[in-house]
Amino acid sequence: MSALELRTTDPEGTRLAAQVIAGVLRPGDLLVLDGPLGAGKTTFTQGLGAGLDVRGPVASPTFVIARVHPSLSGGPALVHVDAYRLGGSADLEDLDLEADLDDAVTVVEWGRDRVEHLTSSHLLVELERPDQVDDPDLPEEPRTLRLTPAGPRWDEGAVTDLARALDAAGLPTEQIEQEN
Ligand code: ADP
Ligand code: MG
Repeated sequence: MSALELRTTDPEGTRLAAQVIAGVLRPGDLLVLDGPLGAGKTTFTQGLGAGLDVRGPVASPTFVIARVHPSLSGGPALVHVDAYRLGGSADLEDLDLEADLDDAVTVVEWGRDRVEHLTSSHLLVELERPDQVDDPDLPEEPRTLRLTPAGPRWDEGAVTDLARALDAAGLPTEQIEQEN
């Protein structure tokens, strides 16, 4: 299975990408967000919240570890987790969330290598700031988003749907063949 890569030029672009991705998500989906502080993980999650039509505001969950955003329109809730302080192999069950992960869309900032064992499938979203631009008077704000699907839920058809949805929203993706 190949990964998909796209670029955004500003925070609104990253929110839009997430909003479009939300359109193909299903209850039980797990998104694992990776990238350094300020990469745009929370910004991305705000787009997911908009796309899923959940009660906001979506903000950094740093001091609460996890926050449940119920749907405003009968769809899945968004469970927003910050795994930064959970250590390795975080057990979300222990958080006693007021949402069943099978019925919600769960997004975990700093989730890489911590939460993948919770589900049979997940979508890894890596956010990256390209190298610093030369001219400090022309502040660029691009980000690279690499979407790496894993598990049976993200079969070829599902990944194709994802790429098509992004393309249709004016966010063309590039297919990256994976090393494994
Ligand atoms: P993280 O949760 O990864 O620490 P945040 O989403 O909280 O990151 O912060 C990202 C910051 O970078 C925000 O202030 C946002 O406005 C800014 N930003 C600039 N360009 C982008 C972009 N293309 N995508 C996402 N965020 C961006
Ligand atoms: Mg954050």
